[in-house]
Amino acid sequence: MELMETQRVPSGFARLLRHRGLPLFSVMGIRIVADYSWFLIAALIAGSLSMGWFPSVLPDRSLLQYISLGLITAFFFFASVLVHELAHSIVAVLHGIPVRKITLFLFGGVAEISREPGDPSTELKVALAGPAVSAVLAAAFWGAVILTGLRSGRPAAQLSFLYLAIANTFLLAFNLLPGLPLDGGRVLRAIIWRVTGSLKRATYIASMTGQALAGVMIILGLFTILFARQIVTGLWLIFIALFLRQAAEASYRQVTMKRALRGATVGDAMTRDVVTVSPAITLAALVDEHFLHHHFICYPVVEGDHALGFVSIKDVKHIPRDRWSETHVGDVLTPLSDDNTLTSTDGIPAAMRKLAASGSGRLPVVDHGRLVGMVTRGDIMRNLEIRSDLAP
Ligand SMILES: [Zn+2]
Repeated sequence: MELMETQRVPSGFARLLRHRGLPLFSVMGIRIVADYSWFLIAALIAGSLSMGWFPSVLPDRSLLQYISLGLITAFFFFASVLVHELAHSIVAVLHGIPVRKITLFLFGGVAEISREPGDPSTELKVALAGPAVSAVLAAAFWGAVILTGLRSGRPAAQLSFLYLAIANTFLLAFNLLPGLPLDGGRVLRAIIWRVTGSLKRATYIASMTGQALAGVMIILGLFTILFARQIVTGLWLIFIALFLRQAAEASYRQVTMKRALRGATVGDAMTRDVVTVSPAITLAALVDEHFLHHHFICYPVVEGDHALGFVSIKDVKHIPRDRWSETHVGDVLTPLSDDNTLTSTDGIPAAMRKLAASGSGRLPVVDHGRLVGMVTRGDIMRNLEIRSDLAP
């Protein structure tokens, strides 16, 4: 089941997509990766086909036959999911939008398209490419069901085609539901975008319908558990709905953040009144008067007008405690370098990268050797929130 194509989903279930997985192969420079969570769903589907579906619709065959039918059918099912994602990706690439990779994971497939399409008609084409391919596959498998039905004596092949026909029809229908992050949501967004001329507004509406759809799915899941007593199916619906809800929210946040990022600099986001320390004070004084007194874990070290470096709890921790009263901040400080300082004119994306790479969460802002402020991820996020609220 294919669920979403967005650049980045910040939290929750979608963490599944990050950093883990087995690279399979590449198509047109697009890496195909199987996330470890995918092996679970692959085993579940292959297992339920081999042990449940085929034995129930095709009695009196050997276990080996059931297993091979299950594996072959599951293979073509996942190939269908992959081809759907490839269709989105290839159309994106043909329109100059790079696609890094396609990940198969617990809830289906996701193409990591590097940026939002620049205009509504490209958005529409990328969004419709996947469902178009699923429609062709569904038609082909339904055709195969009919053809194998005409030739008697091939019930196994016919049942396999039947499963794939139903699965692709379901993929098509589900993906066309009109809410983000589903393809139908992107179609809806493209249409509203064209009509209103506002990507932000279009994303907002498609994100809201996506969240509403997720809400309906959660209610359906609860009904399935309470009234149909299908606990596994109900929980599965609820999990997918939670994932969809989060991704729908994230799509909107992503668009507003990107807008807010335009032209924003470190100087806009930084804190200007900064508690600094002198290189001459001892670590004992630093701990008592700063770490335990203010709540920061990292301080810029300044002598006169000149920024020397910064000192953090990490720098102090590897000095034995009995030497804190004779060791000075100047002896342990981390000197300033290009990697651990920002300037007030730096852009926000570069600042976020440096903050992440430094691991300190808080970096000094230095203009021409003078400390002008400090900036944290929190400062940047708050500034972006305000900017995105004010944006049209
Ligand atoms: Zn799709």
